[in-house]
Amino acid sequence: MDNNILTKPIQFLKMVGPRRAHLLAKLNIFSLGDLLYHFPREYEDRSHMQPASRFPHGSNAVVKGTVVGSEELRPRKNMTITKLGVHDGTGVFFAVWFNQAYIKKQVRPGTNIVVTGKMDKSFGVPQIKVTDFEKISTSGKLLHSGRIVPMYPLTEKLGQRTMRQIMYAALQESVPRIKEFLPSYILEKYKLPSIGAALSKIHFPENLKQAENARKRLVFEELFLLQLGLAIRRSKLSNKKKDHVYCNGMGLVSRLMQSLPFNLTKAQKRVWDEISSNMQSSFPMNRLLQGDVGSGKTIICIFALLKAAESGLQGVLMAPTEILAEQHYINLKKHLHGLGVRVVIVSGAVPAKEKNKILDQISAGEANIVVGTHAVIQETVQFKNLSLVVVDEQHRFGVRQRAILQRKGFTPDVLVMTATPIPRTLTMTVYGELDISVIDALPPGRKPVKTYAVKPSAWNKVYKLMHNQIEEGHQAYLVCALVEESEKVDIQSAVDTAENLQKQIFPDYKVGLLHGRMTPDEKDKTMSSFREGNTNILVATSVIEVGVDVPNATVIIIVDAHRFGLAQLHQLRGRVGRGARQSYCILVSEPGTDEAKERLRAMTMSNDGFRLAEMDLKIRGPGELFGTRQSGLPELKIADLITNMKTMGLARSEALSFMDAHGEQRKYDYNNLFGEMERRFMQKGDYIDIS
Ligand code: ADP
Ligand code: MG
Repeated sequence: MDNNILTKPIQFLKMVGPRRAHLLAKLNIFSLGDLLYHFPREYEDRSHMQPASRFPHGSNAVVKGTVVGSEELRPRKNMTITKLGVHDGTGVFFAVWFNQAYIKKQVRPGTNIVVTGKMDKSFGVPQIKVTDFEKISTSGKLLHSGRIVPMYPLTEKLGQRTMRQIMYAALQESVPRIKEFLPSYILEKYKLPSIGAALSKIHFPENLKQAENARKRLVFEELFLLQLGLAIRRSKLSNKKKDHVYCNGMGLVSRLMQSLPFNLTKAQKRVWDEISSNMQSSFPMNRLLQGDVGSGKTIICIFALLKAAESGLQGVLMAPTEILAEQHYINLKKHLHGLGVRVVIVSGAVPAKEKNKILDQISAGEANIVVGTHAVIQETVQFKNLSLVVVDEQHRFGVRQRAILQRKGFTPDVLVMTATPIPRTLTMTVYGELDISVIDALPPGRKPVKTYAVKPSAWNKVYKLMHNQIEEGHQAYLVCALVEESEKVDIQSAVDTAENLQKQIFPDYKVGLLHGRMTPDEKDKTMSSFREGNTNILVATSVIEVGVDVPNATVIIIVDAHRFGLAQLHQLRGRVGRGARQSYCILVSEPGTDEAKERLRAMTMSNDGFRLAEMDLKIRGPGELFGTRQSGLPELKIADLITNMKTMGLARSEALSFMDAHGEQRKYDYNNLFGEMERRFMQKGDYIDIS
């Protein structure tokens, strides 16, 4: 690849030896490319040079002159003041350094220098407290003054001046040799500078306008390369024709639709159209179904599974927890009753003997729909003709799982469902390789959950609310504090809380307990009892977070709510408000930080997952929100996921149409472009894994 110059190891650059290479490594700079893409965090405008007398007292002065004399003062122990007399063409001023005695030797009388620093006029002769200075070389080229000066993110023992010098030398050497890699029509269309100009000017602009132009190009470039990688992944996913065909009639699906106790919302209908026609096409579906908690995603995936079943194919529904898998299983059985479809569950709660029978049914193709946790598609389970994989709740169906299935001979349609509210534009990044369907409305008649943040001193009121709701025949959740350090402590606090509630507060009600360390069987029993209304209060660790659907529950109490993230709180709140009744969410906590207060306030103000996600993004920033690597969120050097959202959209559509038009030629005509995409997004975080 021609731009291989960018991968050149840093220690072979001018001004960099092993010692500095070591320091640069701390900034994640290993190659020339890493260095050139280490951008200034800000600029200081030192372009305005004039004689010292013209700068007012207290201003930031930049003055050029010739050193005419020096003196050293020691006003007290451990303090050396170096004072150079400098003639600026109109008069003499003093340049002053504290405790930098070496200056005197470095800057002899007769030297031409520029000094930058704070002007002090309280002594008669103008005096500058030097923050930066520079000797003027024979070429007259200035790096640290007399210009817009870049200020870099640094590490210990590596100063701004050194960094600028290294950067300048690197640019001198490489800019003439870096080949443009963005397609020229894109540069023209968006009026972007060339790569050489952009890199030169982002580091050493002549004015701020130039820096801004350079930034515009580099932001676009970064997002375009990212989206290009995602577009490739996307085309890899769907370029293999699938070898299963669904029947077109939708007999059973229509029958189910007609027998539902409710009407589908407009959003649900639209989304189902998208999904069913996608399943009907000859290339595999890779689709994200996004919808806020309670928006009714489950019924949509039941349609899809039923479509597979009635076509004589198999579908699998995977949930993140056994509890949810069990719930889906019950739900499917309920909805599909009498339609002649066999639904099975693969779960730890099923005894071994029965489990073997189920596995046989799956491999013989007698089981039409299989429910289980994410383990289902792995190892032991053999399918006869798997055609559809549905993944519930935010699990990224990755390259690995796909590979497993392909080895087993399947190219299934994949539907990933998530309620994790991600701002729409971020969805393009986190799930960039998927098509997206959004259920953007709740079923009619839902009342927004009333949310209150209260102090622990209000516990009596909280109990009263629980009492009233239970007396009216409803149920309550109480979610215990999340003690991140230890699951054991989490569980203990849940056990204690449940006991206290049962014995001291609500002796007449039935209090249930649910936590992560219970056996699948125990969990099953607890959940069934709650689902059937026999348990009034369910005390739980945050395991109930995702997906649990008991519409009769109308209160959720979240203890130490400040310890949960906003997305998590919203998920928890989504456990109530699932029926027509008014529901309540009580956040009990003593928030210590402003950020925590902000989060709780956001919860009381909005019931809209997407709005909350946007607020969360503003409160915490994207890295925090997703935890970079595990979420699949890329590390960006210059683009910002919030402020550059619009550019992200442009970059995405350009990348998609580029791939449509030129994807095939990439090895020949767009060598540099793809090389650069790989350098940025494939080598390091293997963010874009397209193997
Ligand atoms: P989620 O999108 O969070 O997975 P669910 O699919 O569990 O939500 O749906 C929440 C509740 O709403 C369920 O009890 C479901 O039966 C019900 N529901 C789904 N669609 C509708 C609708 N169109 N009208 C009324 N209720 C609905
Ligand atoms: Mg759900």
